[in-house]
Amino acid sequence: MEISNQDSLQECPPAASDSGEAGGSDSPVKERCWDQREALPGEPRCVICGRYGEYICDETDDDICSTECKKILLDRLRSTIKLPVNQLPSKKLPARDECFYVSDNVGDQIETIRKKISIHVKGKNVPAPVMSFSSFQLPQKLQDNLEIAGFVIPTPVQMQVIPAALNKRNLLVSADTGSGKTASFLIPIVAHCSDIRSKYPVEEKRPQALVLAPTRELCVQVEDQAKLLGKGLPFKTALVVGGDALSGQVHRLSQGIELIIATPGRLIDLLTKHNFELDEISILVLDEVDCMLQRGFRDQVMQIFQALSQPQVLMFSATIPADVEKMASLMAKDLVCIYAGKPNRPSESVSQVAIWVDSKHKKQKLFDILKSTQHFKPPAVVFVESRLGADLLSEAINVITGIKALSIHGEKKMKERRETMRLFLTGEVPIIVSTGVLGRGLDLLAVKQVIVFDMPNSMQEYIHQVGRASRMGEKGTAIVFVNEENKKLFRELVQALRSSGAAIPRELANSYYSKETQPSNGRQKRRKHGTGST
Ligand code: ADP
Ligand code: MG
Repeated sequence: MEISNQDSLQECPPAASDSGEAGGSDSPVKERCWDQREALPGEPRCVICGRYGEYICDETDDDICSTECKKILLDRLRSTIKLPVNQLPSKKLPARDECFYVSDNVGDQIETIRKKISIHVKGKNVPAPVMSFSSFQLPQKLQDNLEIAGFVIPTPVQMQVIPAALNKRNLLVSADTGSGKTASFLIPIVAHCSDIRSKYPVEEKRPQALVLAPTRELCVQVEDQAKLLGKGLPFKTALVVGGDALSGQVHRLSQGIELIIATPGRLIDLLTKHNFELDEISILVLDEVDCMLQRGFRDQVMQIFQALSQPQVLMFSATIPADVEKMASLMAKDLVCIYAGKPNRPSESVSQVAIWVDSKHKKQKLFDILKSTQHFKPPAVVFVESRLGADLLSEAINVITGIKALSIHGEKKMKERRETMRLFLTGEVPIIVSTGVLGRGLDLLAVKQVIVFDMPNSMQEYIHQVGRASRMGEKGTAIVFVNEENKKLFRELVQALRSSGAAIPRELANSYYSKETQPSNGRQKRRKHGTGST
């Protein structure tokens, strides 16, 4: 038997072995998690689902309820700590009550757990990670909704972010693309809002939480997930994004809602034209925070932030440069930083293939890839630099290859963008050509291939675009076209390719701009000049 029955081991507390419901050593091992009963007070709990921990996993020493949860535990540990199949360190998790706060005697254990799930934290008294949804004491309806959504156990980032957010800490979270950051802020929001409503049912409902995100598509997706998690609870949402009529959004807000999901420009538009109060907002989320605190969005975000009365601030991205971390710590007191996996790197689940190709040959190269059954893995997103470029390239793909392709960018009406997304996500159109609008945060579930046709202006955007090819650690590929015009990014691109074991095209590897140590600008100019004259 792969898992040891607690009854057969000395470690089993008497309550469990005495209980008629627990099943003695003669009863068959429970295969499925839902066949197991809830734990009684004082009984061991399954570290995965929180039900009665009838067995002890012989490889890790954890309490476990069934073969199903044991498998999840071992898969999770192997994928997060990358150990060979039969080599897992022994580990013991803190009991439920110890999970939320770091006390001296469990401090070391908590650090060990963080290491195992590849989490690193910075800040004072950071709550401990929690390994199962049932240990968060969430409203029952929310737990049911998680189960319906297929969320059996929290992802590593959720294990650390949810307890910290439930403890009202200000957070800056850096975690891979596709690692489940959205639910890590939505779960505490739904729990908070439904808690407030159950304690203070009021006639006139005011929004309790605000999520700001850079694109309309991302806002739509965050709202969809929020609705899913808040179903059946006193929890309503409003979408405030450009491209749809303002009047409809104002009407929705006046109906009484708990959560606003907005792009900053449209929210400011709404606040200036309509007398709308945000004074009860107690949680502010900045999704894709590096983008939100960059020029272009920063002033709008700060204007909104100043209109709020000191909310808890939760900030997320897969790429957080040092200046953003500094700005974040100025915005939010006592900030806790949470880093999951390797920060500021392309997702390890996506294999990158860099191809050196001159600008004038890029189209032909793309068509060759799309016509090759070996290389083209639809559905695929092709990222380009300009709106016009997106329109022209999608048309050219249709004409030259006969494969259906649509374009998406910020100049298109919201209705058309929604329809394009629908056709793409339902598989009716296998290729979407996009500007940066789809680069950030979107959960393009079926997408396994990204083609970076025009290298973006920064490695941050590159990391996000590549990240669209993988969700929750599933494998994907990113083909990236690179040439002399992208030399500004050569050094970082080489590092990114090298760190993920990808081949580096000869021209890129040999370029002067790829070298680790480059002289200062003045010297660079002299050498460049000298090279040209030989
Ligand atoms: P990120 O914001 O980190 O880029 P998302 O929040 O979009 O990633 O999540 C990626 C995918 O993972 C989504 O399809 C989401 O539904 C799914 N997901 C999130 N949390 C879990 C979980 N605990 N179990 C299973 N799937 C999850
Ligand atoms: Mg996200």
